[in-house]
This record gives sequence, structure tokens and C-alpha cells, in this order.
Amino acid sequence: MNIGIVGAGVAGLTAAYDFSKAGHNVTVYESAPFIGGQASTIDVGGGRLERGYHHLFTNDTDIIDLMDELGIGESLQWFPSKVGTYVDGKVYKTTTPMDLLRFGALPIWSRIKLGLFALKVRRIKDWRSLESFTADEWLQDKLGGKAYEVVWNPLLRGKFGDYYDQVGMPWFWSKIQTRFASRKGAGGEQLGYPVKSFDELLFALRDRLVAAGGELHTETPVERVLTQHGRATGLQFRRPDGSTGEQEFDVVLSTVPSYSFPGMVDLPDNYRAKLEGVTYTAAVVLILEMTRPLTDYYWMNIADRSLPFLGLIEHTNMLPKEWYGGSHVLYLTNYVDRSEPLFNMSPEEVLELYLPHLTKFNPEFDRSWVKQMHYNSLSAAQPIIGTHYSDRIPEHQTPVKNLWLANTTQIYPEDRGTNYSIRMGHDVAKRILAEG
Ligand SMILES: Cc1cc2nc3c(=O)[nH]c(=O)nc-3n(C[C@H](O)[C@H](O)[C@H](O)COP(=O)(O)OP(=O)(O)OC[C@H]3O[C@@H](n4cnc5c(N)ncnc54)[C@H](O)[C@@H]3O)c2cc1C
Repeated sequence: MNIGIVGAGVAGLTAAYDFSKAGHNVTVYESAPFIGGQASTIDVGGGRLERGYHHLFTNDTDIIDLMDELGIGESLQWFPSKVGTYVDGKVYKTTTPMDLLRFGALPIWSRIKLGLFALKVRRIKDWRSLESFTADEWLQDKLGGKAYEVVWNPLLRGKFGDYYDQVGMPWFWSKIQTRFASRKGAGGEQLGYPVKSFDELLFALRDRLVAAGGELHTETPVERVLTQHGRATGLQFRRPDGSTGEQEFDVVLSTVPSYSFPGMVDLPDNYRAKLEGVTYTAAVVLILEMTRPLTDYYWMNIADRSLPFLGLIEHTNMLPKEWYGGSHVLYLTNYVDRSEPLFNMSPEEVLELYLPHLTKFNPEFDRSWVKQMHYNSLSAAQPIIGTHYSDRIPEHQTPVKNLWLANTTQIYPEDRGTNYSIRMGHDVAKRILAEG
């Protein structure tokens, strides 16, 4: 078969790899000048670094298996992560269960309740029984009080902004399962990272595709899915020189976000409504290359809504700074609606907004520590998955014959992540091949 794929993110490249392994002719079109989508990288001090902070959990078995299959399994290494939580002007270490017991921002009874509550959620086997609740209402009901107010509510608001009270409880359930899986005994979490960045995987997939005779065109956005009598017959795209091209395909797999898919093809109202039923928040990410570390934490939760960002991730507190020419690498991150002013600010404005708050984490911080700044905004960063989502997920097989869709809104009940885009890429490729 001749198969056209729209998008060279993790899902598109995984499916492309599977198709070419099965002997099919594959062509991938990517609008960006680089591959990898949300997991793509930039140059930082001679090393490669993800545009948005990335790591893996020990239960991310699909990506681990794929890296093994590609012969790059050894590049994935595991590192202890140190987690802090900023509450009421103070940083608390919240890396291990013992740290939670010492978490002074809560009365002792609330700390115990918080720990027991996480165990209780972990023991729930049937996530479907949680589908009719939002995380906010379930947590208020079953945990409530200070433990919810101080810890989980600000984190939900931070991650989902104004949509925090719409997120379904299965999301929270899956997060707890993942975090427990990555715990090492009574210690903290072990997180995975490929030594040469996520490029290691992306480039291995690309190289296999090209070696099998497949084609990958970057800077080539797809504008239309060509159809005839209700079936997909090809793609119309724009080349880097501005000219338009068309290519016939037997099957088309699109991995673009749900909001842009209807612009490429006419879809029946009921399928379109499913696509429009999921909102995405965007991510605004600043990366600072610094001469000194800000804190000694890898991951800092910000449980304080008065700060203009929701998380600090000090990449080089988990990974060696030597990989980045000796720079200390700090991500400042936020999830926002695309209509919010922050999403539309210039990188310099975002920097000016954020910098004055860094002394809250280290009173010695001075802007002279910042050697360089990188700015990224990702518009389809986080789908907001609400209640009863099993009934509302857009099917991979669209109503247009031979046209398939695989994007992060179709990952459920797990939170989106590279592991699940890989699983989805494999699953959809298998289904397409089975249909012939
Ligand atoms: C800030 C941030 C932090 C994250 N942290 C982690 C983490 O720690 N661990 C983890 O596992 N995951 C993490 N993720 C999630 C992970 O990166 C994504 O879930 C995953 O990469 C999604 O892959 P995808 O292929 O499904 O989608 P995408 O990466 O979005 O790929 C879609 C591709 O389609 C392309 N495209 C769009 N429109 C067109 C068009 N018209 N024509 C051609 N191409 C087009 C896009 O440019 C893109 O390359 C994070 C994401 C963000 C935003």
C-alpha cells in the first residue's frame, strides 16, 4: 500500500516505522522544519534538549520496548528525581512518603490523610467506576479539607487552568498509578531519560523509515486530504518553496490536533462534534541557561496561584550540566488557554514577568545568572479530558474511508505522553494493516 502520514511527531513516526517494516511505501509530511513535534529538541550548549521538559516513568513500557527493538535501549538511563512543593512562600521537600509526613504546610492529620488517600486511589482497579466524576468533585468529596486546598487544588488549577474542574477523575487515577510505579521502595521516584535526548528515538525511527525507502518531508504542511466518493485518495501539501503539490495514497493517517483536522477534510457533524468536544490548553515554556542552579530540586510544584508560572523544572539537577556545555538548565512552565494574554506575550515580556519571582526560590538569584533564554509555545499541549469520555472519544477510523486519525485526545484513561503516542501509533498501524 501507499500510505501518507500527516505529522512527524512520536505517533506518526512510530506508525511510519511499523508500516515500512511491513513492506509498505510510506511518505510522512511535517509542517515544522524539524521532526518530533512536542518531543522535539533544540541545541543548548552543544547538547540537545526538549522544547518542553521530558522524562519517562518506569511503567512507560511501550517506549522502553521500542527503544530496545531499535537497538538504542541502553541509552535510556534512570535517575533519582528530587521533588519540592512551593506553598505559602516556602519550599518543602516532597520527594518521598517520609517527606510528605514532614510536610509542614499541612497539619499532621491532613498529611496522614493525604498519604492514605493516595494509597486508596492506587488500589482502585476499575477506573471506569470513576468516569462520571470530575477529579475536582471526587477529591473534594473523598479528601477535602486542607489536604485538597493546599496540595491538589492548586496543582489541578496549575495544570489545567480555568478547566481544572472539568477534568475527569480517570486522569487523576492514572497519574497516581504512574507515580507509584516509578517509586523505588520508600524512596523517591526514578525517572528515565535517553542520554542523547529524545532525539535518540526520533532519529532512529526516521533512519529506519528512510532506510526502508520511505520519505519524510519537513517544512511541508498538509493543507487538504483529497477525497472522492467518501474515501481518502491522497494529500495536498505546500512545499518549502511555496508551491503546492499532490500525492495519491491508498490510506492516510493524520496525527494533527483535533482542532485543525476539520480544516483538512469535510467530516460528518457527529464526528466533528466529537473532535470539537475536547479543548486543549497550550504550554508556554521558557528555558533559561544559567551560570548557577536556582535550587537543588529537579521538579518543583507551585501550589501558589499568585505566581505567574506553575512549575520549575531544573533539568540539570537530574542530568549532568556537562551535556549542555556546563550550563544549568531551568524550565519555567505554564499551561494556559490560547486566548490568555500570557500565550500572546513576547518571549521578553514573559521573561520580565517571571524573573522577579525567582528570588522566592533562591534569595541570591540575580538576572546576571541567565546566560541565554529560549522560548517555546505549544498550542495543543494538553487535551482536557472530561467525564464519561469512553462514550465521546473520536474513533481512529474516521467516517471518511481510508482516513485515520491518531492524536493525544484519543489517549485514555492515561494522561498524554510519548509512551502512549507510541502505543497509539502501533495500535492504529496494526488496525490499518489488518483492514488491508
Ligand atoms: C510541555 C510538555 C511537556 C511534556 N512532558 C512529557 C514528559 O515528560 N514525558 C512524556 O512522555 N511526554 C511528555 N509530553 C507529551 C509528549 O511530548 C506528547 O504526548 C507526544 O510527543 C505527542 O506526540 P504526537 O505524535 O501524538 O503529537 P505531536 O507531537 O503534536 O505531533 C503532531 C505533529 O504533526 C505536525 N503537524 C500539525 N499539523 C500539520 C500539518 N497540517 N501538516 C503536517 N504536519 C502537521 C506537528 O508539527 C507535529 O510535529 C510533554 C508535552 C509538553 C507539551
